[in-house]
Amino acid sequence: MRYSALKIFKEAVTGHKGWKPVWRKPAPKPSYDFIIIGGGGHGLATAHYLASKFDGKNIAVLEKGWIGGGNVGRNTTIIRSNYLHHENEGFYEFSLKLWEGLEQDLNYNAMVSQRGIINLYHSDPQRDAYARRGNAMIMNGADAVLLDQDGVRKQYPFLNFDNARFPIKGGLWQPRGGTVRHDAVAWGYARAADSKGVDIIENCEVTGFDIQNGRCVGVKTTRGKILAKKVGVAVAGNSSRVMAMADMHLPLESHVLQAFVSEGFKPFLPGVITYGAGHFYVSQSDKGGLVFGGDIDGYNSYAQRGNLPVVEDVCEGGMSLMPAIGKARLLRMWGGIMDMSMDGSPMIDKTHIDGLYFNGGWCYGGFKATPASGYAFAHLLATDTPHETARAYRMDRFSRGLMIDEKGQGAQPNLH
Ligand SMILES: Cc1cc2nc3c(=O)[nH]c(=O)nc-3n(C[C@H](O)[C@H](O)[C@H](O)COP(=O)(O)OP(=O)(O)OC[C@H]3O[C@@H](n4cnc5c(N)ncnc54)[C@H](O)[C@@H]3O)c2cc1C
Repeated sequence: MRYSALKIFKEAVTGHKGWKPVWRKPAPKPSYDFIIIGGGGHGLATAHYLASKFDGKNIAVLEKGWIGGGNVGRNTTIIRSNYLHHENEGFYEFSLKLWEGLEQDLNYNAMVSQRGIINLYHSDPQRDAYARRGNAMIMNGADAVLLDQDGVRKQYPFLNFDNARFPIKGGLWQPRGGTVRHDAVAWGYARAADSKGVDIIENCEVTGFDIQNGRCVGVKTTRGKILAKKVGVAVAGNSSRVMAMADMHLPLESHVLQAFVSEGFKPFLPGVITYGAGHFYVSQSDKGGLVFGGDIDGYNSYAQRGNLPVVEDVCEGGMSLMPAIGKARLLRMWGGIMDMSMDGSPMIDKTHIDGLYFNGGWCYGGFKATPASGYAFAHLLATDTPHETARAYRMDRFSRGLMIDEKGQGAQPNLH
């Protein structure tokens, strides 16, 4: 079903009886060419690009819960491509370009809003580091503008510029960064994949792999065994648990990250800002609520709920950046499970088991990666070669000493 102004008008005057479900609810078939485990953003995007760009047929996405129930529907919706390392910047810029054409590609309003993102700096060394990062972005074809204090003031006059422990000195601005409505991304990809014949099977948990003579030939699920020529795993925070079923132990830890939404206000925050002296990022949704977050909770967990000390920490970060936020009432909060890799960068790779492929390690930055991750994973599944923007995301880089340590923090997943 295609959406159009005419269709909306017709349905409005005929009692909205003509809308069809956005995707089918098929029963699993006994076998597929491709099985994607995980119906989050990355799994659905993989299925969509596999079917639409790589001529993939006979594809299923197996999701243990419901579409949009994982991190794809839990994140703070920020997209950007402001990375320093060449291995990351090319990939995230590819993703931003795909975001820019996503709504036309899917014919779905995902509310892609390039309202700009500013990373604030608070000291001269931090400014120099941001200048370096901005140059790296420009060299990779992205956009970056280094703002001084007046430049930030023009956009955000109400920030705590001078009277703070860490005065704001300026910021690195990426005008093409912004926000996208997260659950609409899941629905849009699901709808597009379904329309190409992909079976999206919800309430179907993968409970094991069928591995024979070093080759993965299918999966065991709560809805029976399903055979497959190729199996791609894209389960984000559950990566360690799922890959352990294939006896693989990954350089990953799972941590909780929380998101917060305030009551609604009139529009006052034009773009996304991140605080450079602590960990706090905020934007304003189209409904008026402030959508914000900060650090991960800091200990390993598979629980999709957060804890109070981090609530305090995040709100303190917000208060020091814009004291006026103290009057806002918090409406909602929730948690998601982050697949934190040791160097803070992801993996999109074949495993040592033939027919089994892995996509994960997205830490808390995987939403913005959704289109490129799906595209690159589809490329790998279809051609058995890595996509040009994802060549560095190999699983063996940890044993070969080829870490992509964007933050220069070392092997400390809780710091990335
Ligand atoms: C609070 C929060 C804020 C964030 N903010 C941002 C942000 O602003 N910008 C950004 O870029 N990123 C952000 N992220 C990170 C981003 O959301 C994730 O990196 C990304 O969504 C992960 O990929 P996904 O969408 O495929 O994950 P998910 O949506 O979690 O998909 C994985 C799916 O796998 C399913 N699954 C797991 N195990 C099995 C199994 N055994 N069988 C079948 N299915 C299974 C799960 O049910 C789940 O639906 C944030 C995350 C959180 C939680």
